[in-house]
Parts: sequence; C-alpha cells; structure tokens
Amino acid sequence: MTDLMNIKQSVNETVGNLVRLIQAETVNPPGNELPAILIIKDILEKAGFPPDAFNIVESAPNRVNLVARIKGDGTERPLLLSGHVDVVPVEREYWSHNPFGGEVLDGVVWGRGALDMKGFLAMYLQVFLDLFRQNIPLKRDVVLAAIADEEAGFTHGSKFLVEQHRELVNAEYALTEGGAITYYFGKTKLYTIQVAEKGVCWLRARAHGKPGHASIPHSENPVFTLAQALEKLRQAGHLPVHLSPTFLKMLDVASAQIRSPLGSLTKLLHSPVLMGILIDRMKGDGGNILRALVTNTISPTLLHAGSKVNVIPSVAEADIDCRLVPGQTPEDVKREIHK
Ligand SMILES: [Zn+2]
Repeated sequence: MTDLMNIKQSVNETVGNLVRLIQAETVNPPGNELPAILIIKDILEKAGFPPDAFNIVESAPNRVNLVARIKGDGTERPLLLSGHVDVVPVEREYWSHNPFGGEVLDGVVWGRGALDMKGFLAMYLQVFLDLFRQNIPLKRDVVLAAIADEEAGFTHGSKFLVEQHRELVNAEYALTEGGAITYYFGKTKLYTIQVAEKGVCWLRARAHGKPGHASIPHSENPVFTLAQALEKLRQAGHLPVHLSPTFLKMLDVASAQIRSPLGSLTKLLHSPVLMGILIDRMKGDGGNILRALVTNTISPTLLHAGSKVNVIPSVAEADIDCRLVPGQTPEDVKREIHK
C-alpha cells in the first residue's frame, strides 16, 4: 500500500496528529470529547475527505462521536477501526511532563492518552488517510470511529452508537485497543494481539452480626467476620487455573520465538497443575499478569460497615471486583470462591 519512501512521512504525520489529540483535554469524568473530535474533523477535511463521508453524532453537549467511511465494493461486510478519545483524569503532581503538552522527546510522545488510546487512534486514522489518498480498491467499507465515553460507562459513546446509530458502526470485524504492547524477552521482542477480553462480575460479601455499643465488645461483630473471610481469600492466593485455547496458542507461538532453553519448557505449562505451581512462585508484575491471564481474579475494593464510630454495626459488606477468564461464568467464580 505505502511504498518505503512515504512510510517516514506517514509516521511523522501520525506523531503530529497524536500530539494534537493529546493537547485536546478530554478528561472523563466529567467528559468533554468535542475538542478531539473537532481535530479529527479538521484532519479529514484537510485531507480532502468529502463532508458526506463522515458523521458527527452528539449524545449530550460536548459528548460527541465521529464516524467516517471509505466505501468498498460491498462484497464483504465492513471493517471497523474504533478508538476512544476520552482519557482518565490526571494527578499532575506525579507527572514529569505536562500531561496535555504532547511533548516529543528522544523519540517518545508524552501525554495522557498517548497509550490509552489516542496513540492507537492516531494510527487507525493514518491507515484510514493512507487508504483514502491512495484510492485503494476495497472489498469492504473501512469505518473509522472516534468515540466518546469509554472510560466512564459507554453511555455517550459505544452504547449510544450501537443503540441509536447502529447503521454507522455495523461491521463484520472491529479493531480497537488493548493487547498490542511490546514485551521483551532478552533480545526478542514480542508483539501480542488481543482477541478476547476477560468478563467482569461484581459480587458483594455480607456478614451479619449482633449490633451493640462499642464500649462493650462481643464476639459477633460482623466487621471481624468479614475481615476473616477476606483474609481467607488473600491467603488462598488465587482461584483455580483455566487455560483457554487462545492462551495456550499464545504460549506456543511466543515460546517458539524465544531462543532460549526456557522456550522449550513452556510445553509443560499446558498442564494446569504446573501452571498453578508457577503462578504460586512468580513474584512481581510478571507473576501478577500471568495469574490474571489464567485464573478468575478477585479484588475486594469497597468496604461498607457502620455509621457511627461508637456503635458496633449489624452488617458489614465488601464489594469484590471479579474478572473472568473467557468461557467462565459468574456462577463459576462464586463456586470457586466458596471452595
Ligand atoms: Zn482505553
């Protein structure tokens, strides 16, 4: 598609567009996607994109989405390139660079959203622009969607588009964020492709006890009961191992690339028992990521109990965020927790 002469030009243009997108402050909550959407509109217009080939749809003031389309001959169903333009809030005191400055230093672009996911969006936009400029004949439409509200509930973004403008985003395949992170194993670089996402299930653990005055403690304080239950979960370390076919395929393909004796040992990890032993022993971020890939995870996040410091409550609750390996159900994870 693109000859070697202008790949460099495309990269420069991608970086320039990414910098502009980072400079648009689209923090969500509260959510304010309009500035980024106007930048994409401007880029498309300057590239000569006809005004009837893109739509800007608004779900609320400043909460806008842009969907553009390059037509194929219709023999195949569309491909959707989807990227959200909102970003999570920043704690400025922890930043060494202006999070909305879009500085490019030593080949690195700095800013909130550079990874999640204005970087991806700038790349999708570039592919889209290059396809358009080079007038490549396509079998399927290629649809670019710059969407709002991924970080805080989808109401103004993908949910709104699917419910109210489905015809704009209907596609056979979609590419979006996640997965494409470079991993280094010695000198080997691995680029992963994400094909599925863990499911989410929120549970509430509730302990009942006997209320009373805090000045006369008794053994039925539900705060202690809840704490004991949570401590049991902590000590268990992790739930049972589930090795999905996709995970095993990734393991095999990745290990074939790693030229080390360790690479051939990965066949052993097709055994859930051996994988369980490995994740029990692996420390640090690597161990945490591997555990999350092969088990249903549980993270207690919110605690609720009592309303006064001098009163023993009758109920104590913990909200638990669970993430499910593809193929697992909320019932499965509840069963595993009770074991
Ligand atoms: Zn994201």
